[in-house]
Amino acid sequence: MSLETLLDRNKAFAATDGVARNPKIPFIPNQLAYIITCIDPRTEPAAFLGVDLGDAIVHRVVGGRVTPAVLRDVAYISYLLDTKAPDGPWFELAVIHHTDCGSTFLADPVLRAGFAARGFNEAELAALPATDPAATVRADVNILVTAPQISPNIRIGGYVYNTAEGTIDTIVTPTRAGIR
Ligand SMILES: [Zn+2]
Repeated sequence: MSLETLLDRNKAFAATDGVARNPKIPFIPNQLAYIITCIDPRTEPAAFLGVDLGDAIVHRVVGGRVTPAVLRDVAYISYLLDTKAPDGPWFELAVIHHTDCGSTFLADPVLRAGFAARGFNEAELAALPATDPAATVRADVNILVTAPQISPNIRIGGYVYNTAEGTIDTIVTPTRAGIR
């Protein structure tokens, strides 16, 4: 197995009519879903949520954490909808953290200091570990629902995915943005 295997799979894909599933407007995905989750290969939304081409905007970052860069990207899509398609339909956003997350290595002060020494801000790194994914997902949903840049047309929920069981727990039932 290698990247070459995946490129071969692309040739097979390109030979089908797969792109017919592309949404007409890319920021209005077919299942009206925007998913923020971890880069971990075990937290692959195509597998555990059955996300197919065009179904969702999938935004993957370490831990699925809502950093300022993630907030900016969500705000950008929110802005595009506001200006290009204000009547919607609007997507629902799911923040999904998970058990056994690799971001928790950053909770180790020695490991974190070593990484910070490569040119990163240690205080920012210290805020990243999803050691208690139910707690971090609540905190990150709160960042999004209270951000003035996110449209109140977007509903935002928080979930924890169990990588050992394949199950999802709802931590925050979807709430409209704009609680200010
Ligand atoms: Zn993770």
